[in-house]
Amino acid sequence: MARKTYRGSLADVSFDGEICQHAAECVRGMPTVFDPNKRPWIDPTTLRSDADRRQLEDVIGRCPSGALIFLEPDHG
Ligand code: SF4
Repeated sequence: MARKTYRGSLADVSFDGEICQHAAECVRGMPTVFDPNKRPWIDPTTLRSDADRRQLEDVIGRCPSGALIFLEPDHG
């Protein structure tokens, strides 16, 4: 099970590297959050507004493999 969760204050992102098809929809759609040159390469802490959050949800909806899942932030 390769699924990992990346946390931010406005949203969390779950990612499964085993099913990612490297279509880079995410990197093109929201390079502030998805940057393969950074570690971690998914960084939801860069979200600044509700509009950013909606954009992230939209970009994740276009992930063709289902590798990405948009999650409500878990403050627990
Ligand atoms: S959009 Fe989905 S399948 Fe494409 S690179 Fe991103 S996570 Fe992988």
